[in-house]
Amino acid sequence: MAEALRQAAQAEAAGEVPVGAVLVWHRPDGVDEVIARGRNRPIGDRDPTAHAELVALREAARQRDNYRLPDCSLYVTLEPCAMCAMALLHARLRRVVWGATDPKTGAAGSVLDLFAEARLNHQTAVTGGVLAEPCGQILRDFFGRRRAEARAARQAGAPSNPPPAAAAAGPEASLPPSP
Ligand SMILES: [Zn+2]
Repeated sequence: MAEALRQAAQAEAAGEVPVGAVLVWHRPDGVDEVIARGRNRPIGDRDPTAHAELVALREAARQRDNYRLPDCSLYVTLEPCAMCAMALLHARLRRVVWGATDPKTGAAGSVLDLFAEARLNHQTAVTGGVLAEPCGQILRDFFGRRRAEARAARQAGAPSNPPPAAAAAGPEASLPPSP
C-alpha cells in the first residue's frame, strides 16, 4: 500500500486526483512480485476509464499475457468504483485491498457492494481500510487545496473596492426597491 501511495502522489503531481494502485503476482515459488503500477490519469489521458486500478490491471494482463489474473492481488488507495470493481471481478483477481472509503462512488460497501454480490459468478476477496488514514489524507489535502484555489480565484475576480454598504448587505442591497 505504501507503493500505491507513492503512485497517488505522482498522480497529484500530474494534476490528477491522487489515487494509486499496485498489482502483485503471487508467484508459484511463493514470492509476491509487483508486476504493475497505476495512477489515476483520466484528465491527462482524456480517458474517463483511466482509474489507477484499470491502468494497473491492463499493464498486469499484458505482463501475464492473460486477461484473467487469478493468482494476483491489487492494492489501491481508494475504495474501487463500480467500473473498477467489475473489471477486477472480470479479471478474477484473488484479492483486492483498498485504503480510504469512498462514500460517493465506492462499490465495495459504501454505495453498493459488488464484491458481496452472490449472484455474480466470481467472488474476489476484499480487505478495506488498510492505511486508510494516509490514503484519505492525501485526498483531503488535494481537495482542500483545490477549494482554496477556487476561492482565491473568485476573490481575484471580484471588484477590488466595492461600496461598503453594498458589500455588507449582499447583492440585493444594490437592487431598486420593489414597487
Ligand atoms: Zn474506478
